[in-house]
Amino acid sequence: MHDKHRLEPGKHIWLTDLLTAGKGLYEGNKATAVTEFTAARKELIELQNRFYAEDKHKLLIVFQAMDAGGKDGTIRSVFRGVNPQGVRVHSFKAPSKVELAHDFLWRIHQVVPARGMIGVFNRSHYEDVLVVRVHNIVPETVWRPRYEYINQFEKLLHDSGTTILKFFLYISKEEQAERFQERLDDPQKHWKFSLEDLEKRKFWDDYMVAYEEMLNRCTTPWAPWHVIPADQKWYRNLAITRTIVNTLKELNPQYPENTDDLSQVVIE
Ligand code: ATP
Ligand code: MG
Repeated sequence: MHDKHRLEPGKHIWLTDLLTAGKGLYEGNKATAVTEFTAARKELIELQNRFYAEDKHKLLIVFQAMDAGGKDGTIRSVFRGVNPQGVRVHSFKAPSKVELAHDFLWRIHQVVPARGMIGVFNRSHYEDVLVVRVHNIVPETVWRPRYEYINQFEKLLHDSGTTILKFFLYISKEEQAERFQERLDDPQKHWKFSLEDLEKRKFWDDYMVAYEEMLNRCTTPWAPWHVIPADQKWYRNLAITRTIVNTLKELNPQYPENTDDLSQVVIE
């Protein structure tokens, strides 16, 4: 399951060929998925402890999705229980005046993960070829070269020891409508709702074009995209956690040896 959703560099995809629901892709049912997710989370917690202790690798995890696509919920569910000292979440909102006075990668580069750290991006530099493109915030002559700048930026991170995992949480337009309605119906979720989200929904098809081009242009050997069927939260959580766990296993983090001779130590 873990690399079922990983795109291959150079292999063109159409979003309409990909699924927003993972049901048929998984051998079990919701209950088994939740059990397996709990087990995978425990593995993630253990691996992250080692990763932090080893202080050797860097891991960057990028989440992109339409509004109500589940970025917040995924981050909350998947990373619950990790050592917060070793995981930093960064949410990228509309750029500030100072950020806009710099190049688009300036605010991103400042917060990429340091050694031993897992950096989680809730939205990212990809907004600069998504929302910015769809709403013509800058002309095409400005946003189009960004795919290549992004690939080179991610290459730099990779060559400097950063493993990069990128997840597009792919939901259907119908699922977005249901989630917006839930937010409207529940006063405790009103804060999650904004009229702006409805405006963006009108541009759904344009967003899909922008996502598709982003996925095709920015799937590289050093930073592949994963398209996760995200209508069902239980499938989404399991697929993402397994991918992260497998990636960490490949890095095989080890607790560092203590160089002192501890066998003679007496605590008085
Ligand atoms: P939630 O999903 O919980 O609503 P959110 O990530 O949508 O969280 P908001 O504060 O609602 O958070 O929205 C952030 C907004 O900032 C989004 O509409 C996003 O598209 C926008 N944004 C992020 N980066 C950029 C950028 N580089 N240029 C323009 N807009 C951006
Ligand atoms: Mg929002």
